[in-house]
Amino acid sequence: MALEGQTCYAIARKLEKEQIPTPRASLMQAYGKYETAERAKYPNKWDQTTVRGILRNPIYLGKLIWQKTQTKSFKDKRIVARPQEEWITVEGTHEALVDEATFYTVQQRIQVKQPAPTANPENKLRGLLFCGGCNSRMEFSSATGRKICGHYCCGKHRHYGGKECSTHYISVKQINAVLLEDIQRHASLAAEDKEKYIAYLMQLSEKEWIGEKASYTKEAEQCQRRISELDILLKRLYEDNVFGRISDERFASMSADYEAESRKLKDRYNEIQTLLANYARQSRDAKEFAALVEQYTNITELTEELLHTLIEKVIVHEKEVIDGETVMRIDIYYRFIGKVGSEDDAILITPKTRRVSIPLAPGA
Ligand SMILES: [Zn+2]
Repeated sequence: MALEGQTCYAIARKLEKEQIPTPRASLMQAYGKYETAERAKYPNKWDQTTVRGILRNPIYLGKLIWQKTQTKSFKDKRIVARPQEEWITVEGTHEALVDEATFYTVQQRIQVKQPAPTANPENKLRGLLFCGGCNSRMEFSSATGRKICGHYCCGKHRHYGGKECSTHYISVKQINAVLLEDIQRHASLAAEDKEKYIAYLMQLSEKEWIGEKASYTKEAEQCQRRISELDILLKRLYEDNVFGRISDERFASMSADYEAESRKLKDRYNEIQTLLANYARQSRDAKEFAALVEQYTNITELTEELLHTLIEKVIVHEKEVIDGETVMRIDIYYRFIGKVGSEDDAILITPKTRRVSIPLAPGA
């Protein structure tokens, strides 16, 4: 259900309606464990958090994860969360109930905030489109009144006006045409010669990746250097304060500044590490993507499920005029393989789509 884009809330309501007992209620029935009276009264009262917890549980991939939490200390038995790097994951402990691709699609779908009941079926790209100017989400407008067709525009522009970002207007028809064409092309290439296609993907993502890896690695090093500098500064500051060389107020304000900076750098450092890890995985996942896209060889229409299965995000850039024609650059980031490089190749043409925009209809 989540794969089809249903919200956790909607799934919870459905389970409740069908009188499916909650995990806790099943436990109670099986073992007769003590529970609060409230819960015993409503054994079928599903909560959206419970649904989300189940959907996000990697146990369905055949993995077991240990040490997600720890007690605060030997004496203090309160439970605190551990950082993700310290988790212990064991793969293949049992047969997976769902495959990895489905699992990750569901993760992305339940992350998107969905005002589902009123959502327009035309808005198939919900949560996937981003503005190339300011990185904010593109917002959907349906075809009403004098607007000829549904379209997307930059969310920042819509809320804060032209000073913050330009419209980045693109109609549903335009964006769908670009995506359909590109997916069809990938699908037919994968179907034609899968090995060749995989080799091509690997080679392109490596090209993209080498440049970015260097700049991320450099930034991570800079972060680390500054973090250790700040540590030294903090120690000195502390000594200065102990020996009365600076006042308590001054110590408090300066150490707060240093600590804030250090915290920010640590966050960024962790973010970069995650990015690096993701990229490393992407280059290995060309095979996985080829298998996915191959299934869509004969598609003529885009469905929401297909889009969310194949695509991670789409970035819509500002209009530019090239050779007297107004074009919009659109970057498609596919799942597993990311943005496929733009350089022309002898076998395949660039998947980064540069497309002449359809002339705006009068009144649009
Ligand atoms: Zn924008």
